[in-house]
Formats: sequence, structure tokens, C-alpha cells
Amino acid sequence: MTTPLIDPFLRPISYLRVSVTDRCDFRCVYCMSENMTFLPKKELLTLEELDRMCSAFVGLGVEKLRITGGEPLVRKGIMTFFNAMTRHLESGALKELTLTTNGSQLARFAGDLHAAGVRRVNVSLDTLDEKKFADITRWGRLPQVLQGIEAAQQAGLRVKINTVALKGFNEDELFTLVNWCAARDMDLTFIEVMPMGDIGNENRLDQYWPLKDLRATLRQQYSLTDLPLNTGGPARYVALEETGQKIGFITPLTHNFCESCNRVRLTCMGELYMCLGQEDVADLRPALRNNPHDDAPLEQAIRAAIARKPKGHDFDYSRAVVDGKMSRHMSHTGG
Ligand code: SAM
Ligand code: SF4
Repeated sequence: MTTPLIDPFLRPISYLRVSVTDRCDFRCVYCMSENMTFLPKKELLTLEELDRMCSAFVGLGVEKLRITGGEPLVRKGIMTFFNAMTRHLESGALKELTLTTNGSQLARFAGDLHAAGVRRVNVSLDTLDEKKFADITRWGRLPQVLQGIEAAQQAGLRVKINTVALKGFNEDELFTLVNWCAARDMDLTFIEVMPMGDIGNENRLDQYWPLKDLRATLRQQYSLTDLPLNTGGPARYVALEETGQKIGFITPLTHNFCESCNRVRLTCMGELYMCLGQEDVADLRPALRNNPHDDAPLEQAIRAAIARKPKGHDFDYSRAVVDGKMSRHMSHTGG
């Protein structure tokens, strides 16, 4: 039996998030600048290489894969990769294969994703107002995303909505979003905006709506129960008694969630980030490419990287400057 991946702080690593492309059909203002320079295609891991990489992690005990990006569903041939991962679900080694998407391509892919063994998807949706949606995503169109969400539910996928909390933008839609999700039996997670990458003229502090008061606001209309649920991630959850929904809060800037971190992130170039909020990175691509028929060097490189996983992140907005700002974009590591 192989020894599972355990980091220096004795946290078992069972969750891999994989960015399969840095490209996207949207340009959300908090995520990208309008004129992004994307990686040359030859820098990307091929679909076969992504398969080998993910399979190596699964072989080392990773039980959950989340596919993200950029927009994962704009990567050409991406279903080939999902279909390849089905074998790990069937063998029982992989417990969950899932994705985070902006929803734009879901109407096209929902059925195929379900057939590949995907059962849950996270769809990012920051507003239900068509005009505001076009403004925040620059290139996105709300009706297309809503159709995608409906198609996903019809295909049997459980949908969770992720909403980035943006000051002066969607604070006023809190209850609209909660009620809209409740009517469709969807959970909802609010995410505090994080200092990732240059976003052109936008100012992070202008965008930051701290979620610490959200519980109190929700209490004005709902009875909340704190859920002990520990996903090993930054989200904390409450249940709304009236609707049965779970509402999540991702508050990396106001809450320390690092003690129970069980995840690492692979970029579309084969770099492994051991922490979303640190710059340290391990390039796994040489071990993969230099040894096309032997996975042992890759496994060794993965173990060496996990041995470098830091204790926690350094994000901090507290002194009215954005400390711990990461130069890479969220679309690079996939959020
Ligand atoms: N394109 C897909 C999507 O939008 O769901 C997947 C990739 S996107 C980078 C993953 C998540 O990160 C999305 O929910 C998005 O809203 C969130 N995100 C992007 N930039 C962020 C930032 N600076 N702070 C907080 N969340 C961010
Ligand atoms: Fe694209 Fe997702 Fe970033 Fe929006 S948040 S620009 S949809 S990668």
C-alpha cells in the first residue's frame, strides 16, 4: 500500500483542485482585466498529461477532484478528460469528481457531465439582474447562465451557487439570491473578494464587502443554525430553518481556516500550489514529461511538494492596504 499524502502539519491531503485552462469566455471585473494575455497553448498540459497527473494524485490517496479554470468548459475536448476520470470513480479510488463553472456552457455539457459521473457542480453567479450581470462579467449574458443551471438540474446535477460578495454591487441582493436559490433547492455560498492578480483599474478595497455581518443580516428574516460541517476548506455553513438551505461563507480575510486545510491546487501548466495565499510553487511538469513511461519520479515530486505545504496564508486587508496580494490571477490557480 502507498503511504497517503500528509503534510508537515499532519494534514492529510485528499483534495486536488485542477485548473484545466486559464482562458475564459467571461472577464469578471474582480478576476481578470479586460485585455488578458493567456498562456501559449503549448504551455498547457495536454488532456493526456492532465489525466496522468490527476491519476498520480488519486494513486496517492486524493479522493476528490474539482475541475476549474479559467472556465473549464471552454477547454477544447474537456469531456475526454472527464470521461477518463470516470474509471477512478468506478474503481472507488475517487469519491467525487466535480467542477466549478460560470455556467455559460452548461446547457451543452450537463448531460455528458452526469454520464461521466459528476453529481454536483458549483456555478458562479453574482447577481440576478441582467444589466448588472453584463457589467460584472463584462462578456457574460445572464439568460445563458440561467439556462445552463436549469439544464444541469434537469440532467440530475446538484447545483450550488457561488456568489462573490461585492460592496455596493450585490449587498442589496442578499435576500433575492437566497430566496431564488431556495425556490430551486440550491445551496448558496458567499465568497469574500480576494487580492489575486492585477485587475486593471479596479480597486480591491472598493470591492471588499466583509461577510462578518452577514449572519446578523440573515437573522433578520431567517432562523439560523450553525453547521459543524467541516469540508477541510474555508467555507463555514449555516442552515436556514425556513428553507432547509445551506448558506456558506468563505471568509479567508476575516477567518483563519488553514488548520484543517486538506487541499492543493494544480495549474493548467502542471505547477502545484500548496496554498492559495502563498507564492511557493512546485513545478511537476519536468517529472511528468521527462518520464513518459514511469510515474515514480512524478509521485516523488508530488510528495516533495506536499512536504513544503505552508501552515497558512497571508491575506490581509486590515491596514487599508492590500497585504499578501498575490500577483497571479484566480483563473491561474482556479480559486
Ligand atoms: N470560471 C469558473 C467560475 O467562474 O466559476 C471557475 C474559475 S473561477 C476563478 C472560480 C471562482 O473564483 C468563482 O466562483 C469566482 O467568482 C471566484 N473568484 C475569482 N476571482 C476572485 C477573487 N479575486 N476573489 C474571490 N473570488 C474570486
Ligand atoms: Fe472567468 Fe470564472 Fe474568472 Fe469570471 S471568475 S472571469 S467566469 S474564470
